[in-house]
Order: sequence, then C-alpha cells, then structure tokens
Amino acid sequence: MITVLRIGHRPYRDMRITTHVCLVSRAFGASKVVVSTKDRNLEDSVNDVIRRFGGNFEILTGVDWKKYIRDFNGIKVHLTMYGIDMNDVMEKIPPDKDILIIVGSEKVPGIVYRMADYNVSVTNQPHSEVSSLAIFLDRYMKGKEFELRFNGTFRVLPSERGKNLKILNREECLKTLKMYVNDDYLIRHSLMVADLSLEIAKRIKNVSIDIPAVECGAILHDIGRSVDNTISHGITGAKILRKLGYPEEVVNIVKRHIGAGIDSEEARFLNLEENDLVPETIEEKIVCHADNLISCGKKINLNEVLEDYSKKGLKEQMKRLRELHDYLSTLVGEDIDNIKIKYERQNI
Ligand code: SAM
Repeated sequence: MITVLRIGHRPYRDMRITTHVCLVSRAFGASKVVVSTKDRNLEDSVNDVIRRFGGNFEILTGVDWKKYIRDFNGIKVHLTMYGIDMNDVMEKIPPDKDILIIVGSEKVPGIVYRMADYNVSVTNQPHSEVSSLAIFLDRYMKGKEFELRFNGTFRVLPSERGKNLKILNREECLKTLKMYVNDDYLIRHSLMVADLSLEIAKRIKNVSIDIPAVECGAILHDIGRSVDNTISHGITGAKILRKLGYPEEVVNIVKRHIGAGIDSEEARFLNLEENDLVPETIEEKIVCHADNLISCGKKINLNEVLEDYSKKGLKEQMKRLRELHDYLSTLVGEDIDNIKIKYERQNI
C-alpha cells in the first residue's frame, strides 16, 4: 500500500498544487494521501474526482505529520532535490512493504530528513512535488499504473483526436437505450435485469466488481434487438455500442449475454459472426445470468429456465446454465433463487 504525505500545505496558496499531488497519487497507484493542514475544500474536490472516476482512494487532512511519520509502519521515502539520486536508491526499496512518500511545499524542516529511511532526489535540480512524485511513483510501480482499473462511472476512452468520455450510470445508459428502442416491454425488462444484476453484485463480497459496467451492460444488453431479433442480437448490440464509443468491458457484457454463453463449436454451427461468446468476467457472468432469470416481466428460478431450455433441446446449455447459477450462488453465499427484486417498474 502506498501512502503520500504532503507537508506544509497552505490552503489558499497551495490549493491547486496540492490537488495535483492528490490526483497524481491516485492515478499512479497510491491508495491514500495525508495532508498536514485541515482543508475541507481540498477534501471536497478530491472526493469529487473519486466519486466520478472511481478507485479506492482516501484523503485525510489536518494530520499531525510528525506523529504520522513516526508511527508509520513501513518504508519512509522523502522526495527532495538534496537527496540521493533516485536511480541509486530504487533497488534498495523493498517492493513488498507499505511505503510512505513525503513531499514538501516550501522549506521542509530538517527533522523530516532524519525521520525518512531514504531522502531521494529526482535530479538534483529544483522542480516540484508533482513532477517528483509522478516520476518516483512511475519507477516504483514499474509502469504498472497504466494497468490500474478504477471502475468509476466516468470512463475515458483513448482517442487519437478529441475526447471520448462515457458516463456509465443508469440515466445515461437508459438515454442510449431509448435512442434505439421504443418498446416499453424491452425497456422494463432491461431495467429489471439491471436491478437483479446489481442485487447479485452487491452480495458478492470478496471479488472486485466493476459495478458501473454491470449496470450499464445490463441496461444495454438487448440494444441489438432494435435491429436484430435473432440469437445474434448480442453481437449486433456489441457492434452498436462499440460504434457509440462504449468501453470494451460493457461491449463484451452485451456480446456474451445470450443463454448461458455460446461456445465456439455452437457458434460455428449457428453460423455466428463471432465465436468468443461465453461470459468470462464476473460482470459478464452476472448480467448473462440475471437475463436468464428475468422472463415475461418477472423473476423466475433456475428450474423454470432449465425447463425452458429442456423443451428447446438445449442439453449443453443446461449444463452451462446450472454451472453459472452455482458459481454465482457460491460467490453470493446463498442460492440466487432467493434474491428478490422489485417487480413493478413505473416511470420508465
Ligand atoms: N527546497 C525544496 C526541496 O527540498 O526539494 C524545494 C521545494 S519544492 C518547491 C517543493 C517540493 O518539491 C519539495 O519539498 C520536494 O518534495 C519536491 N521536489 C522539488 N524538486 C525536487 C527534486 N529535484 N527531487 C525530488 N523532489 C523534489
């Protein structure tokens, strides 16, 4: 766990730069930032970023920094232009211990140099706490910060030109669905699948779940039916969403929601355009199965779905369906058949 301690913050003068210290900390892999001076505005603006962009990140202000450094159980690194070259220190810092990275603002009290295990410079030239922190964290993380997933409702999709920001909340996804679908029954079904998916997701405690992707994927899972009411509507929906710039985690939920998934052999037999149609991620599995359990405007149980599959002669599918149900029920800690959702939906 990486914690960043910002000392000497002056609320009016340093608001912007301390905010940037916090944003760099969050984006580059720290899970907590501690600021010596109490500053509610700073807390609010950082918490607002966390609320929109996600991540398990915490900000604490008004902390007794001397005590915090003294009590910290881990490696203490102070970033200063007067320290030892970062290139000569990096190898010595154990990667498996908690680390506290201290950055200053104006003049840093001498005691900080003595309390730190390492005084580290990112070149011996004066620059700033933001640049030194970013470069140190990038080296410490070995570039892995690029792989971090924050699971917020705001998703930025890489774009060669211009901005592509998608908001994965109920309102925005419903807006997208209604651009394509004007069938009240389908809209109500999509909302019920979303409700059940979220009920399943919130009961799973020990697995990290991308909740906004679950909600958005559930709301949009049948968008393909606007133009394709066949078994390939998942593939069609995925294409629509990809064109609209939705992230792949949502696109794949939609693509892999048919039945209990369609394996490559079945996909070839059915002459489908794609053959990677079995739900893989936890988010894909939740939405896929929630869709199975919502039928004709109500929640049904596993046996009812199995019966339906049996009538259609879907033997292999029955096995996969049961496995999916058992897998999710184990994660939830009880049979998913016991989960209730609101049946009546108005004001859609
Ligand atoms: N005299 C200060 C010092 O100790 O580096 C410079 C103050 S600078 C305005 C504010 C903070 O930026 C410092 O407390 C330090 O954390 C960071 N900083 C600036 N230049 C740095 C460098 N070359 N290497 C590491 N940290 C640096």
